[in-house]
This record gives sequence, C-alpha cells and structure tokens, in this order.
Amino acid sequence: MFDEKDVLTCIGSDADASEYHGSILPPIAQASLFRKSSAKELHESLKRENKDFVYSRGTNPTVKVLEERLAALERGEACKCFASGIAAISAVFMGLLKAGDHILFINNIYGPTIQLAEMLDSFGITHTSVLGDEITGFEDLIRPETALIYFESPGTMLFDLVPIAEIVSAARKRGILTCIDNSVSTPLFQKPLNLGVDLVVHSCTKYIGGHSDVVGGALITNNDLLERIFFRSYLLLGGIMSPHDAWLMLRGLMSLPNRLKQVQADALEIAKFLDSHPGIRKVHHPLIESNPLLDEQMTGHTGLFSAEIDVKGFDELCGFVDRLELFGKAVSWGGVESLVIPSFGFDDESNPTPLPTNLVRFSIGLEGAETLISDLESALE
Ligand SMILES: *Cc1c(COP(=O)(O)O)cnc(C)c1O
Repeated sequence: MFDEKDVLTCIGSDADASEYHGSILPPIAQASLFRKSSAKELHESLKRENKDFVYSRGTNPTVKVLEERLAALERGEACKCFASGIAAISAVFMGLLKAGDHILFINNIYGPTIQLAEMLDSFGITHTSVLGDEITGFEDLIRPETALIYFESPGTMLFDLVPIAEIVSAARKRGILTCIDNSVSTPLFQKPLNLGVDLVVHSCTKYIGGHSDVVGGALITNNDLLERIFFRSYLLLGGIMSPHDAWLMLRGLMSLPNRLKQVQADALEIAKFLDSHPGIRKVHHPLIESNPLLDEQMTGHTGLFSAEIDVKGFDELCGFVDRLELFGKAVSWGGVESLVIPSFGFDDESNPTPLPTNLVRFSIGLEGAETLISDLESALE
C-alpha cells in the first residue's frame, strides 16, 4: 500500500534531530527575520534567499522541515509551502505564465482553480477545459500558445482518472509544462513526478493537515522551476505558510499513513454498500470499477467518493443529506470527521454544472465503517 520509506518520512524518524538539539519534534521558529554576522554575509544571503534564512516571507526553518518532507514523499527536488492550496496554484500560474499564454485544463477541476483562470483572462492568459467523455481527444485542444496543461486525477467530485503518461508525452513533445493537483491521492497513493509530470500542487488543508484545523498548500517540482516561482510569485505575491501552521502540518503528517489506511478501507466498504443499495443510482469511487490506469498511476485511494442518489429534486436530495446524523454538512474534506456535501446543481439553473444534479460527495473520517453504514441505511429508508 505504502512505501516503507514514506512512513518514516511522515513520522520524521529519518530526520536528523541534531539539527534542532535532539528535540523530538522540530521547534517552531516563530521569527520573521534572521540575523547575520556581517554586512557581507547578509549581502551574500540575500542573493540566495531561496536557500538561506533571511526573511520568513521567503524561507523559515520550521516551514523548511515540512517542505523537505513533502519533497521527499513526492520524489521531487524541491518544495515550497503556501498559505493555502489556491495560493500554491496561483503561484504556478503567475510565476510561469505570461500574457498570450493558454492553459488546457483536463478533467473536472476544483471550482476556484477555474475561477482563478477566469480572473487571469483580464491579464491576457486564456484557458480551455476538457472533461468527461471528451478527455480522450485532449490533444486536439492543444494550441500553439498552450504553455501549461493542468489536470486532476482523480478529478474533483466525480473522481475520474485521466491517463497521466499520455498527457505527459503529448506535452513534452511540444515543450509544454504539466501540473497536477494531487490533493485527493496524497503523495502516499500517487507520485506524479515519477510519471514525468513537471509540477505537483497540494491543498495541505485536506489529508496532510488532516484535522480540520489549518489551511495550507504546497508545490513540489524540480530546482529550476521552483527557483523561478520562488523569486516571482512566492516572494512577490506573499501567500506564504506561517511557521506555526507548518508545525501543525508536520503534526498531521505523522499520522497520515495510518489515517489513510483506515479511510481507504472504510470508504471502499461504504462505497460497495451504497453501490448495491436500491436507493443509489451510481457510485463514483476509483476502486469500484476496474480501470487499467489504476495500476499504472495509483497504489490506493483515500476516503473520498460520491454517489448519485435516487431522488427527484433538490429538496429530496437535501432531505437525504439532512437525515444523515454522523456526517457533517460542510465544505472541504480529509479530516477525522465524516462530511457530506450535495453538488448544488438543482438550485441554480443559470449556472449549469457538468455534474449530475443528484450527486453528493462523502469524505469518510475515522468513525468506523459499520457505524457510518448504519447511519446511511437509516437515511436511505
Ligand atoms: C480544497 C482544494 C483546493 C484548494 O485548497 P485550499 O487549501 O482550500 O486553498 C485545491 N484543489 C483541490 C482538489 C481541493 O479540493
């Protein structure tokens, strides 16, 4: 399921604690700036601000511990952590693209990422999205000015997989960069850099933090791309992670393998229960139907899936959601408590969504499969 090396990285037991006086956990370097011994040393440090501690808007020792662990988990050369997942995504767009460039989005993408691309229209950066059955023809949508192919696999809400190796090869032939949002799989279940993807972004708010108590993001890539992004959109847009938030992320990361083990097993059991229930029309979980991409790209799936409920309208859909007692009605996912959210397709006809209007998404927490199944059973009656 997981690489043993990854478990040690998450726990931090392969770290060199002598760097922080043997302290069993990395200390929180709650400092905005770092003193140098001379004017010349300060001058030298400023020139290599991405590799030295000068000012915490650039680099901070606690944040750096998290960055090193995430880079190791993703098998990347370098990582920067951000104030949120969307800050990491905006740093990629703003740091690597210019007016005249085009982004191709593949798969159903996290809504605010597309809203950000829409905002970039006014800066001369355009985009196209391809999803659902159209994905097989994605190459036809690549333009001479396409500078970035951005995708999710599994995708938001429907958890469809896209062929990562095929996308990478189409992009490389044309010198186009590729970026994947790997938040859903986490680096434990999918390592896109090993498949040739150039950039990986994460919402660490979800499974990496894992306890619904901190918002953050990360970008993992090679040294060259990271340096470009560091001096342009990291330092200058300023959406940085604070040392205290990095410490909370490190604390969440320690239990990530164990949390994923339980939510993977429980979510699959619950998805199978729903799949055979007459009140459910379809379950969207990557491990429920066989798919050759699974073995190629992933070593497992987390606690997220969605289901189409046999209901006639928005009120009935909300009725089902409200009858659930153990599932919190809330946005976000990846914490220890189970959550549910409807796709909100019924109530806004001016905003047609590509999602089925009877869809609900579940994020399975640590309550236990049996307990959650009996809650679902009563809500479906
Ligand atoms: C939540 C989410 C994000 C944004 O992350 P924030 O930390 O909320 O900014 C990005 N991608 C996906 C797939 C998400 O679910």
